[in-house]
Amino acid sequence: MHSPDTDSILIVGAGHCGGRTAQALRAFGWTGGIDLVGDEESPPYERPALSKDALTGAKALAELDLMAPDALQALALRRHTARVTAVDAAARTAQLSNGSTLHYSALLFANGGSPRALAIPGADLPQVLTLRTKADALRLAPWLQAGKRLVVIGGGFIGLEVASSARKLGCSVSLVEGAPQLMGRAVPALLAERAQALHRSRGVDLHIGVSPLAIAPVAAGVQVALSDGSTLQADAVVVGIGIVPGTAVAQAAGVAVARGILVDRQLRTNVPHIYAAGDVAEFPSHVSGTLLRQETWQNAESQAQVVAHNLMGGQVDFAASSWFWSDQYDHQLQVCGEPAAGVQTTVREQEDGDVLVFYTDAHDKIVGASGWGLTARIAKDLKIARTLVERGVSASPSVLADPATKLKSLLK
Ligand SMILES: Cc1cc2nc3c(=O)[nH]c(=O)nc-3n(C[C@H](O)[C@H](O)[C@H](O)COP(=O)(O)OP(=O)(O)OC[C@H]3O[C@@H](n4cnc5c(N)ncnc54)[C@H](O)[C@@H]3O)c2cc1C
Repeated sequence: MHSPDTDSILIVGAGHCGGRTAQALRAFGWTGGIDLVGDEESPPYERPALSKDALTGAKALAELDLMAPDALQALALRRHTARVTAVDAAARTAQLSNGSTLHYSALLFANGGSPRALAIPGADLPQVLTLRTKADALRLAPWLQAGKRLVVIGGGFIGLEVASSARKLGCSVSLVEGAPQLMGRAVPALLAERAQALHRSRGVDLHIGVSPLAIAPVAAGVQVALSDGSTLQADAVVVGIGIVPGTAVAQAAGVAVARGILVDRQLRTNVPHIYAAGDVAEFPSHVSGTLLRQETWQNAESQAQVVAHNLMGGQVDFAASSWFWSDQYDHQLQVCGEPAAGVQTTVREQEDGDVLVFYTDAHDKIVGASGWGLTARIAKDLKIARTLVERGVSASPSVLADPATKLKSLLK
């Protein structure tokens, strides 16, 4: 039995991973105290719908919450709506922005990241917005109405999902992406090209390989100047150019950071009693040992389970296979496993026009897969592809490429 006063786990960040960790701690029998410190007003929630159903109004923001109010209450957390501003690792205390000091027996950084700022003139205009939180979605809502003109800067998942939601709502949308392909290197060019064609067919004015240089107020909104000399007129601009992981407080406490807060396989930092999980954590892949930082729903979910065990004194390795999805219009993209660990890439063009890409190692073991297609059609295949990766099934490229091979048959 732990005493809530002397044995207390402090969770920095009351988002997806922080909330799930608190839930898991209680599920695993932690009877000590849990201090959940978060700087958002909302109880912990899942973010994916923010750029999808919650943005189109198909889902209310309250529906995103990780648990119902009574379930949250039952966890008997000490919730603090504040920022953790400093951690003293020797004294095992944390300073909060509201002036209080909390003592901990173990501490978890689950504080995610904040949207990367666009470093061009005019990026601070009130019509220039980002999307990370419920508050951001509320700020964005008035601009997402039929007839409004939106410029999206960034052709990553969030930018493309915002474009898709805005088109559904009847906005006119221009999207600017500086790189030569959409969705960066996490997605094969073939899939990115399909997404590009879909967005064009749905009326998005795409500017690829072009950078924004400045945003200026004009009589009817704002004007975005682009590197190819053209300009775009808009009522609002949404910037989706990635996040900056929140490493500063950890680093000041002596925690090693690189592209995120560095942790080992058990999600422990180099500082005793301090852990990190979720978007902010940089961890060694169980497949290749490569250091990874994942900004995905599934990573937040699965690391929460492992870190909860370890915060309670367990020694569980994080070895979940990674996976993420993106919904754009009636299409879905998924990437699972570790495509970069593959030595061979095999494309499987399905008869219905959907496409899957498999990544195999030198022994034909499937180490990663990705796919793009009509959600209603491809979701089942993507689920099987994910299971193939999770089980480490081996199959030759010719078998994988053949649309006549039933993917399910490879599971046997
Ligand atoms: C619009 C959007 C759409 C997405 N769609 C998908 C999707 O389709 N598929 C997918 O796989 N993933 C998606 N994601 C990613 C997924 O939501 C994240 O990976 C997940 O939220 C990460 O959880 P986290 O707990 O690590 O971070 P977060 O959920 O961001 O939680 C971190 C919390 O910590 C708080 N915080 C930060 N610093 C401090 C501090 N010093 N003190 C106290 N609190 C602090 C933050 O305000 C935040 O509330 C999406 C994300 C966004 C923003």
